[in-house]
Amino acid sequence: MPGTLYIVSTPIGNLEDITLRALRVLREADLICAEDTRVTRKLLSHYDIHTPLTSYHEHSRGEKIESLAERLSVGQSLALVSDAGTPGISDPGQALIAAAIGLDAAVVPIPGPCAAIAALTASGLPGGRFAFVGFPPRPKGDRRAFFESLREEPFTLVLYEAPGRVLSTLEELIRTLGDRPLSYGRELTKQFEEIYRGTVSGALERLRARPPRGEFTLIVGPPSPSGQTPPSDLSDVQQALQNALDQGATARDAVQQVSTLLKLPRRLVYRLLLEMQRRAEKNL
Ligand code: SAM
Repeated sequence: MPGTLYIVSTPIGNLEDITLRALRVLREADLICAEDTRVTRKLLSHYDIHTPLTSYHEHSRGEKIESLAERLSVGQSLALVSDAGTPGISDPGQALIAAAIGLDAAVVPIPGPCAAIAALTASGLPGGRFAFVGFPPRPKGDRRAFFESLREEPFTLVLYEAPGRVLSTLEELIRTLGDRPLSYGRELTKQFEEIYRGTVSGALERLRARPPRGEFTLIVGPPSPSGQTPPSDLSDVQQALQNALDQGATARDAVQQVSTLLKLPRRLVYRLLLEMQRRAEKNL
């Protein structure tokens, strides 16, 4: 009877972010298939786990997959891990998972960290319906087509990006989608974790002043419904400003975010913010 392939999520920074079940599976598996055995060895030694390791990465060829499939077919259990987060999510895994399914082996997810979900949940942007679009392609033509295709998406967008390309990606986003609400999670769960909430232009301004370092996940808010008319009751605008401030936006970003969202002149939104601040001071 075929064995089991466990898809094990591992921390994206903080080593405490691993489930009890993941630790047990890693301890009990016959073999751990790791994207980079040196990275996974650090995690295993932290938890005093001594299961044998083999490498399984994006360049693993048919032979490697066949030898792993052979182990599954004789009943062994394999644990698949990537360097960080959930295998198969912009990480290796798909070919091995397909091979296991082809063998009728059990394929069992061991859920846990995923940078996309961590960044989305902390962004304050709608998480009910979102499109995960992974890394934007690098070749110029593909890149253009990729960003153009995002215009069609009515949902929140989740992107991965390397630090050296974050500025260029933000520039493409503003060019193709306009100045939408944007959040980024940088170095999530690590010592210098930063969660920015504002707009694409606000993020550009911030990151132009301080060149991006570390790992970034970008969350872009959905387009505002087309043809939306300005609210007749200005308290709606103030409520939207308050929500943005509560979510950690600076005053400047809150004004930008709300004027984009409600399609109102920035000057009007700014005036309402000043009014709110004056009222709050009086009530102190
Ligand atoms: N499979 C992984 C997951 O489930 O999160 C993602 C792997 S993908 C190769 C790596 C990308 O994930 C990074 O370039 C970055 O965009 C994002 N990422 C990984 N760790 C992160 C972190 N701690 N903070 C923010 N983004 C992170």
